[in-house]
Amino acid sequence: MTTNLLGLDSLGMEQFFAELGEKTFRARQVLKWIHRRGAADFDAMTDIAKELRTKLAAATAIEPPVVVGDGTAPDGTRKWLLKVDGANAVEAVFIPEEGRGTLCVSSQAGCTLDCEFCSTGKQGFNRNLSAAEIIGQLWLANAALGIHAGAARAVSNVVFMGMGEPMMNLDAVIPAARLMIDDNGYGLSRRRVTVSTSGVVPGMDRLAAECPVALAVSLHAPDDALRDRLVPINRKYPIRELLAACNRYLERAPRDFITFEYVMLDGVNDADAQAKKLLDIAARVRCKFNLIPFNPFPGSGFKRSSPARIRRFAEVLQRAGLTVTTRKTRGDGIDAACGQLAGAVADRTRRTRTVPIMEARP
Ligand code: SAH
Ligand code: SF4
Repeated sequence: MTTNLLGLDSLGMEQFFAELGEKTFRARQVLKWIHRRGAADFDAMTDIAKELRTKLAAATAIEPPVVVGDGTAPDGTRKWLLKVDGANAVEAVFIPEEGRGTLCVSSQAGCTLDCEFCSTGKQGFNRNLSAAEIIGQLWLANAALGIHAGAARAVSNVVFMGMGEPMMNLDAVIPAARLMIDDNGYGLSRRRVTVSTSGVVPGMDRLAAECPVALAVSLHAPDDALRDRLVPINRKYPIRELLAACNRYLERAPRDFITFEYVMLDGVNDADAQAKKLLDIAARVRCKFNLIPFNPFPGSGFKRSSPARIRRFAEVLQRAGLTVTTRKTRGDGIDAACGQLAGAVADRTRRTRTVPIMEARP
């Protein structure tokens, strides 16, 4: 079987080259060609002997997902629909801002965790993405946005906040994250790569041990009764255990706080009393809050809290000395906002109908 070199982190690449009977430094050269310079084929790798290039071309491939959709919103947010196989497509979103550019990547086609307010969760789960399919999103974004030798790259930050729960697919997420922070790869600092989790405790411990990058935790409720309903994984790992895992993570984390994400759902989790309850949680973990105005999708059954309510909720937290940001809703018009990413997966749960994938017209 052809090996897709795109998904190999530096250790994986070295092992692969050792098996080929090649020297370690060749592995590093190829890694740089693929990820730093965006090479898509072996002919471009001019400092590698022709013989080795021919050998690589025969045994391996550099194969990113296929772009089947590409749209830009008026605010500059750009969304790609990426076909990963005959039945599945996922989405990646680029969000340009003053002084930085953030790429939001997907880690699974669908998600098993079925949070009540999430469009990805509602369409069921189909499969994990491979490391190549995850890093391929960054590779493609760089290719689309242009890499200029010596110039700052368009993508300065990566967040695992697209489709899927990264902690349920760490075998692929870890090598992809390692490539992101590798100097021979994308060279991003650990603080600029953020994994977001709904609170899969064993995954948090594993990530801390194997590739500690910045961590965001989707809290969304101040108590177990409400969180059990909104984020069902809470029934397995309740808030007390989640906070303990956050504190263990902080011992290794590149930042000295956890970002708690909190989706603002009208009349559900947005009362002053609920904000006050969050203060008890904040007293137990060094954290910042990121309030996310709910992004509606058909049939969700939820409404977004009003701007005034979100401001007031933020104030309660801020008065207690907490740092709170409210996420700007981006990508309106192309369904690129948080929780709206749906891609297209063959739905095995039959919660929704299967969406066929069509190739984009040239
Ligand atoms: N599975 C991971 C990462 C992907 S979701 C997680 O749950 O953290 C990224 C963020 O978007 C999470 O905080 C998630 O709760 C939030 N989100 C999901 N659906 C949303 C919606 N409809 N509106 C706003 N945010 C949403
Ligand atoms: Fe999965 Fe995250 Fe959506 Fe929950 S919010 S269903 S964990 S992608």
